[in-house]
Amino acid sequence: MREYGLYIAGEWVGAASGSTFQSFNPYRQQPWATLREASEAEVDAAVRAAQDAYATTWRPMNGAARAEILNRIAALIVENADELARLESTDNGKVIRETRSQMLFVARLFRFYAGYADKIFGSVIPLDQPAIFDFTTREPYGVIGIITAWNSPLSLLANKLPAALAAGNCAVVKPSEHASVTTLEFCKLLEKAGLPAGVVNVVTGGPKVGDAMVKHPGVAKVSFTGSPGVGRIIAATAGQHLKPVTLELGGKSPNIIFEDADLDQATVGALAGIFAATGQTCIAGSRLLVHKRVHDEIVGRLAERAKAIRMGDPLDPATEMGTAANEPQFDRIMAAIDSAKTDGATLVTGGARATGAGLDEGLFIQPTIFSGVTNDMKVAQNEIFGPVLGVIAFETEEEAVAIANGTQYGLASGVWTTDLSRAMRMIPKLNSGVVWVNTYRMVTAQAPFGGVKQSGFGRERGEQGLLEFTTVKNVMIDFSGEKRDPFAVKN
Ligand code: NAD
Repeated sequence: MREYGLYIAGEWVGAASGSTFQSFNPYRQQPWATLREASEAEVDAAVRAAQDAYATTWRPMNGAARAEILNRIAALIVENADELARLESTDNGKVIRETRSQMLFVARLFRFYAGYADKIFGSVIPLDQPAIFDFTTREPYGVIGIITAWNSPLSLLANKLPAALAAGNCAVVKPSEHASVTTLEFCKLLEKAGLPAGVVNVVTGGPKVGDAMVKHPGVAKVSFTGSPGVGRIIAATAGQHLKPVTLELGGKSPNIIFEDADLDQATVGALAGIFAATGQTCIAGSRLLVHKRVHDEIVGRLAERAKAIRMGDPLDPATEMGTAANEPQFDRIMAAIDSAKTDGATLVTGGARATGAGLDEGLFIQPTIFSGVTNDMKVAQNEIFGPVLGVIAFETEEEAVAIANGTQYGLASGVWTTDLSRAMRMIPKLNSGVVWVNTYRMVTAQAPFGGVKQSGFGRERGEQGLLEFTTVKNVMIDFSGEKRDPFAVKN
C-alpha cells in the first residue's frame, strides 16, 4: 500500500494524522493507496498558501523565469513518464500504451505554455480623445481552484495548470477521489523543478473538499472537468460567490460516416472514437451515424474488430482495452447496456461483463455495439462513459445534422466524407465545440478545445486556453493637463 498526504505550501501533511480513504486498482480490484481526506481547515490552509505564493513569489517573478521553471517541469515529466504512466494505469485501469503517450503530451503542454509565459501582451487602443493614452494588460486572477475527473488525471490537469501558471496564477488542485495518486506524485516533480512553495497545492478527497474550494473567497476562478451534474452544482455555487468558472463536461458525440467516406479510415475512426480508453473519455464518439448505403458494411467491420480487441492487464503494452476505472462506473455502464436492450436496440456484439483468463478479477466489459438505435433512446441520449456504441442509420445530410445536434450535449462531432463541399457544408451546421473531419480524437497543444450546451463553456489548450486564466485591465492616462467639468462624463 502506498500512502499519500496533502501537499500544502511545499510541505506534505501526513496521511495518518486525519481521516483517510483508499484508492482501488480496478484491474486487481484491490485497494493500493491510502489518501488523506482534506478538512475544510486544510482547504483553507492550501488557499492561503497559494495566496501567499501569488503575492510574494510567483506573480512578481518575470515571465522568462516562470518559463524556465515550466520547462524544467516538462523535462522531469519526460524523465518520469514511464513511472507516471504505470501509476496512472494502476489507479484507473487505462492501458499503458495510452497513458505513456499522455504523459509525453502533458510535458508538451508545459512546454507549450512555457513559451507564452513571457509573451502575454495587452494592446494599445486609439481613442476618440486626443491626449489620452489607453492600453490594456492581461492580468492573472490570483488563485485558481482546479477540480478534475478520474479518467485522465494528469492530462486533465495539464489542460489547465501550465496555462494558469504561465499567466502568473497560483493553484489549489483537487483530483478525483477515484484516481489521485499521479497528481500527488507530480508534486514531487514540481519540488525538484524548483517551483516555489505554495504555487501549486493539492488537497485530496471527495465532493466536500471540492465544494469548500469553490466556496472559498480566496479562490478567484474555478476550472472544472467532470460530469454535467456536478458542473451544474459548481456553476451554481460559483454563481452565489460571483466567481468565474470554466466547465469541461461530458458529451454524446456524433461520429458521422457518409456513403462516400473512405471506409477503412472511417472504421478506424469509429473504433478509436468508442473503444479507445474503454470509452471512458469525454470525446467518445458514442453515437455512430452511418449512411444507409454503407451501414451494414460498417457495422460488420466494426463488430469483427470489436470482437478481436485485446483486453487484459492495463500495464501490458499489448493490451488494447483496459477496465472500467472503478466499481460505480462499471455498474453505470452495465446498467446502460441493460437499458439499451430493454429499449429495443439490436445487440450486435458484446453486451456483458468480459470474463476469461486474465479478466475475471478486473472490471472488464465487452466492447459493445448496438444497431437499430433511434435518437430518442437512452443509449443515444445519455453519456455512458464506457465501451458502448449506438449505431443510427440516416439517409440525407439534413437528417444527419438533426440527429447529430439532437442531444443536450455539444462537445465534439466527427465527419467522414471524401466530398470537400459536403464537409464544408456540415461544419457550420454541427453544434459542437470541436469538429473533426476524416479524423477523430485528435488532441493537440495548439488547437482550442471545449464544448457548447451541456458540454460546458470556456476553452482549454491553445492560446484560448491561456486567455481563460487572464483578465483584461484597461488603463487610461490623461496627459492633456486640462481641468475638466466634474459633473459631466468625458467621452
Ligand atoms: P464527477 O463530476 O463525478 O467528478 C469530478 C470531480 O468533481 C471529482 O474530483 C469530484 O470529487 C468533484 N466533485 C464532485 N462533487 C462535487 C461538488 N459538489 N463540488 C465540487 N467538486 C465536486 O465526474 P467523474 O465521474 O470524475 O468524471 C466523469 C465525467 O467527466 C464525465 O461526464 C466526462 O465526460 C467528464 N469529462 C469531461 C472532460 C472534458 O474535457 N470535457 C474530460 C474528462 C472527463
